Amino acid sequence: MAGLLFIISAPSGSGKSTLVHELRSVEKNLDFSVSYTTRAPRGSEENGREYHFVPRERFEAMIAEDELLEYAEVFGSYYGTGRSALSESFAHGRDLLLDIDVQGAEQVRERLPEAISIFILPPTPDVLKMRLTNRSRAEGKVEDSVIERRLAKAQHEIENYHKYKYVLVNDVLERAVDELSAIVKAERYLHDGDDLTRPGVQKVLAIAESCRVSHSAERLRPVLDAFGVVFSS
Ligand code: ADP
Ligand code: 5GP
Repeated sequence: MAGLLFIISAPSGSGKSTLVHELRSVEKNLDFSVSYTTRAPRGSEENGREYHFVPRERFEAMIAEDELLEYAEVFGSYYGTGRSALSESFAHGRDLLLDIDVQGAEQVRERLPEAISIFILPPTPDVLKMRLTNRSRAEGKVEDSVIERRLAKAQHEIENYHKYKYVLVNDVLERAVDELSAIVKAERYLHDGDDLTRPGVQKVLAIAESCRVSHSAERLRPVLDAFGVVFSS
């Protein structure tokens, strides 16, 4: 049986990579698609682990050869998902996780409407700025213009939150990991036709449901307000 496809998007610096890392340590059998990018490696990033770092010419050849499921230009660099990640995971009946931006998510949803999409919000613009600054500092390179560019793009990305099935706020890390993990478990239970009346299952389903956009007005409104985005479900 083919596996599930999860898409996670978030403004840069929201903590998506951190969350994905934590999620994969608690939820097994979840492949992560290593994207191709033309941007330079950051900090301790390694080729083939966080990304396949390729020259622009190679990326453009992949576009021409239709080797990418989706791609987008983000902050002046190309980012894209290789089709092979999907076919390999699904051939083995494994679930696959894509960490892609809002443009890429739109393309995947059009091609694969069954994909389960999750949007991660930072709690406030100030916290987002602080996380971007701390990360740059840890990498030994604080460039205010880079941080400002990422902050400016955050609002535009956040405007797309309602196109996602689930939205969560990465405030307290443990809570966000629990919610993400509940979403993955819940989708697996539903997909596998498990007995949904079991007590443990009920709890997981309730946490996942609380992350549905339609059930999150109270939680999301103040966060969206802070970014100047109007709530709509
Ligand atoms: P992204 O992948 O969304 O660009 P990162 O995972 O690199 O973001 O996180 C950006 C910074 O914020 C990192 O320094 C990370 O350690 C920190 N961070 C992530 N989640 C949290 C959280 N819930 N609370 C505090 N700091 C966090
Ligand atoms: P970063 O440079 O911070 O790693 O990523 C910048 C943005 O590119 C993030 O929003 C991230 O989700 C997005 N991104 C990473 N890989 C892909 C990809 O394969 N396709 C698309 N469309 N976006 C990606």
